[in-house]
Amino acid sequence: MCGIVGYTGHREAFPVIVKGLKRLEYRGYDSSGVALLNNGQLNVYKKKGKVSEMEESVIGKDLHSHIGIGHTRWATHGEPSDRNAHPHQSQSGELAMIHNGIIENYAQIKQELLAKGYTFKSDTDTEVLLNFIEDIKKNNNCGLEEALRIALKRIVGAYCILLISPEDPETIIAARKGSPLVIGIGKGEHFLASDASPIIEYTKEVVYVNDYEIAIIRPDELILKNLGNEKQTPFIQKLDMELAAIEKGGYEHFMLKEIHEQPDTIFDCLRGRLLVQTGQIMMGGIENNLDAFIHAQRIIIVACGTSWHAGLIAEYLIEELCRIPVEVEYASEFRYRNPVINKGDVIIAISQSGETADTLVALESAKEKGAFIFGVVNAVGSSIARLSHGGAYTHSGPEIGVASTKAFTGQLAVLSMMALKIGRAKGTLDEKRYLQLMQDLETIPEKVKEILNDTSNIERIAEKYKDASDFLFLGRGYNFPVALEGALKLKEISYIHAEGYPAAEMKHGPIALVDEKLPVVFVATKDSYYEKIVSNVQEIKARKGKVIAVATTGDEIIPGMADDVMFVPDADETIAPLLSVVPLQLLSYFVGKAKGFDVDKPRNLAKSVTVE
Ligand code: GLU
Repeated sequence: MCGIVGYTGHREAFPVIVKGLKRLEYRGYDSSGVALLNNGQLNVYKKKGKVSEMEESVIGKDLHSHIGIGHTRWATHGEPSDRNAHPHQSQSGELAMIHNGIIENYAQIKQELLAKGYTFKSDTDTEVLLNFIEDIKKNNNCGLEEALRIALKRIVGAYCILLISPEDPETIIAARKGSPLVIGIGKGEHFLASDASPIIEYTKEVVYVNDYEIAIIRPDELILKNLGNEKQTPFIQKLDMELAAIEKGGYEHFMLKEIHEQPDTIFDCLRGRLLVQTGQIMMGGIENNLDAFIHAQRIIIVACGTSWHAGLIAEYLIEELCRIPVEVEYASEFRYRNPVINKGDVIIAISQSGETADTLVALESAKEKGAFIFGVVNAVGSSIARLSHGGAYTHSGPEIGVASTKAFTGQLAVLSMMALKIGRAKGTLDEKRYLQLMQDLETIPEKVKEILNDTSNIERIAEKYKDASDFLFLGRGYNFPVALEGALKLKEISYIHAEGYPAAEMKHGPIALVDEKLPVVFVATKDSYYEKIVSNVQEIKARKGKVIAVATTGDEIIPGMADDVMFVPDADETIAPLLSVVPLQLLSYFVGKAKGFDVDKPRNLAKSVTVE
């Protein structure tokens, strides 16, 4: 959700931290701040708004320091304001802390502290935890590390926290549960961040801190402990990521860059897995757990947002090709409604970040009930990846734009390969169709490239309809979830109200909205529903709706009826969503841009939703 950065070493800390915070801006935030230690003096600067506003506000201030912590906040407790921004300082002023996450039992602890005479400068749960730590430290006459350990045992919720204090002027103390923390190891210096993007330009050696671990970090030393005060051996990993991958590379926005990366990211996802020559699909996560899938009585797909749409497409795929019943669940609903989970059920979790809080908790409880958990995740080493029994990475690279694009097509590519592999192993997919679909899948990256070759028509359509106040997106079969995704993208990026519906369902309500002002986007490629959707287009035209169609290149019927058309190459209907979603991504991008919105950071949204 928000971002944290820390540094201790020989460099000036402030520029390292500010640059890091800017790299984390994509996660979504409303305010930012830093705490710097210099000669026993703790300087805290924080401001509502962008990191650049905070940076401007500190011009001329004392920024000299070799140790510091920085934060971008996405408010959960207390409005976005200078006062509620992090870092917070403890009552005595001796401790500074940043926090990512939520302390669920903060109210009770706050009452206890108020009764002891503590006062609070902010409305945050974070300041409560900080003063709680200070109080324990005072009462037990112990060090900060010990006080933190005691405090965390009483805390309910999610956190990644970093603490500094003039008492120990070279040390950052960190702890995590539920919110990510990566430590970069340099020569005589350490970097801390919510993900690797602020670290990558300095070092490729990193340690992913686990839940319930405390890290004590000095320029030359990294100590990891569990909450029982036992030392843990840090597992040092090499980052497999280049700096260019997290920069814009000439595109105006990350979202546009990521849309255009899709031929490569889908190719990377298929590479080494889809072996058309030998007719094999190599996926270790499936191979090692083939029995679980073949004998599954049921598959439950758990996801949120765009990943949930990928899950719906997977439902169609798996039921058709593997004949296994599939349910697709919103993680937030699934976790709270005491679902029936039987031993032998397979749960597929889909998440770009691998940190989605609702999905993570849903999985934890399903795992306890004996389900087999399979993760389809983009972020390597993320919490969901680690919690799963098996999994497949989408290999889409870092996705910075808040609205998901390339991660979605990566998920579809993985889920398609999974369905093919399981269907073949189970004997529900005949060899001829299996081989045909493999070949079709292999051509997808080239076909996406064709769509992206000239986007001027889509830009023109966006310009034409950008002032509409509502949009309807319709599709049938495999294209129904694509319609949902098209509507979600438009909402996210252009703030235009949009609804996605199964095209036939339109007659049961939404058709009442249709008039000459309503643009209706039909995802109407050539598939087994084609004749039916032609009728649906006519029904809208008869009511003077404006039809924008995603149609198959060479089709003449739909283009003959539609007001505007975006063409995509032909593909088997099971994998057609990998193509038909691309014009919709571009449509929402161009509408958002034409309206002058910050498409990479849409208002109110966060990239990785680590709160419930
Ligand atoms: N719960 C804290 C707050 O509202 C931290 C939120 C965050 O993760 O940014 O300040």
